[in-house]
Amino acid sequence: MTASGLAVENLVIVGSGPAGYTAAIYAARANLSPLLITGFQDGGIPGGQLMTTTHVENFPGFPDGILGPELMDQMKAQAVRWGTRLVEADATAIDLSQRPYRITAEGQTIEAQAVILATGASANRLGLPSEEQFWSRGISACAICDGATPQFRQAELAVVGGGDSACEEAVYLTKYGSHVHLIVRGDKLRASGAMADRVLANPAITVHWNRQVADASGGDWLEAITLRDAQSGATEELAIKGLFYAIGHTPNTRLVKGQLEVDGHGYLVTQPGRPETSREGVYAAGDVADAEWRQGITAAGSGCQAALAAERWLTHHNLAVTVSHEPVDPAEVGEPTRTAESDASNYDPNALWQKGGFALRKLYHDSNKPLLVVYTSPSCGPCHVLKPQLKRVLDELGGAAQGVEIDIEADQEIAEQAGVTGTPTVQLFHNKELKQTFRGVKQRREFKASIEALIGVPA
Ligand SMILES: Cc1cc2nc3c(=O)[nH]c(=O)nc-3n(C[C@H](O)[C@H](O)[C@H](O)COP(=O)(O)OP(=O)(O)OC[C@H]3O[C@@H](n4cnc5c(N)ncnc54)[C@H](O)[C@@H]3O)c2cc1C
Repeated sequence: MTASGLAVENLVIVGSGPAGYTAAIYAARANLSPLLITGFQDGGIPGGQLMTTTHVENFPGFPDGILGPELMDQMKAQAVRWGTRLVEADATAIDLSQRPYRITAEGQTIEAQAVILATGASANRLGLPSEEQFWSRGISACAICDGATPQFRQAELAVVGGGDSACEEAVYLTKYGSHVHLIVRGDKLRASGAMADRVLANPAITVHWNRQVADASGGDWLEAITLRDAQSGATEELAIKGLFYAIGHTPNTRLVKGQLEVDGHGYLVTQPGRPETSREGVYAAGDVADAEWRQGITAAGSGCQAALAAERWLTHHNLAVTVSHEPVDPAEVGEPTRTAESDASNYDPNALWQKGGFALRKLYHDSNKPLLVVYTSPSCGPCHVLKPQLKRVLDELGGAAQGVEIDIEADQEIAEQAGVTGTPTVQLFHNKELKQTFRGVKQRREFKASIEALIGVPA
């Protein structure tokens, strides 16, 4: 029996970008009680690609634009409000060889009558010889997440790529770097006209045409890249402290390889203009099946199509077990609560979670409990994903450990002293000693195990 009371799920949606959440909203409102596997680290993060951007100016309904993570929070809240159940983990296996289909997540196998694949696409890497050495030490795939780190401030930076993401990142990085170099493989930008014009008109950006990045060099931190002229083959060094990749994405179809038809680039093939894949009851939505448009709104639109098609198919085959809403109109979602910066007036020595340098100093010096310090930046989507996970760990530990959030833009000095090289970074302290550093989004159990080891809970 599943959590919804169904022996076999009606519909499992894999992926929590605009496609997945929109499919969930439609399926939940159709009383299908969908189960949505959000993903965690494999092929992106919960909320998808829009979690790694700042302002989304073209999603209808938001005339002043909306921050990507905020938009995704709203979609999630809408899906949950109507009865979508979430599994906050990666799907690790998908077996479409027979019905009901089988999806594995968190070590459990879930059976489903219908499946919507909305796993989106992942950022590509260049695969430079020294890439691993300088990864998070100057090389990053997310300018929006890492741009504010101290090492990049007033430094020369480079972005590689010629599309919308590359242009957006180059413009964004001019906020932090002294100058930004845009490395373009060809002799024109593939970005939209408006975006390309913004780059070309910006005196803080130099475009290097017909150049490929051959390698990176430096000591503990990136110091230069070698550029190769795509025509003559001649090489030159460019002294920079940050190299940001914006070279496109690869569709996340690994789990269904050999089971569904894909095109030459690995995108799922569907019936023209429709969400049906090559297997009955399996639908594709969003970037995973869209090599051409790849936008939030097109992903959302195809998520809607996939849910409606799945609903019709389930009904036609008499496979759907509907679960009605009680009450019919669920409670409104309301505004999310934000943590206020702690100071002498509101600091609480026993609070599980506080914010800012004041709380950090007090807890570091006065508390003998393990202390998780999470370094974030305002527009960092992965930080947004990680914070509730950390709060959940602290809740589960019932006050045995505490947490402090440091916004590296507001508390630059603290970030510099802590050696933060990107966000999110989490440092675990105990009795004034740094015990462990975690970079990027990690599973809850990793933080919990490290804290439990410090407080003597047997594994
Ligand atoms: C920097 C940047 C800026 C952008 N700006 C805009 C913009 O301004 N406007 C716009 O319309 N579009 C924009 N886009 C494009 C937009 O983000 C994508 O088109 C859209 O997010 C695609 O939605 P999706 O739901 O198909 O997939 P994604 O958003 O890629 O989401 C895929 C989801 O699948 C999950 N997943 C992957 N593998 C697994 C697995 N094994 N198990 C479970 N889950 C898994 C991931 O965790 C993720 O939640 C931007 C993209 C980028 C990268």
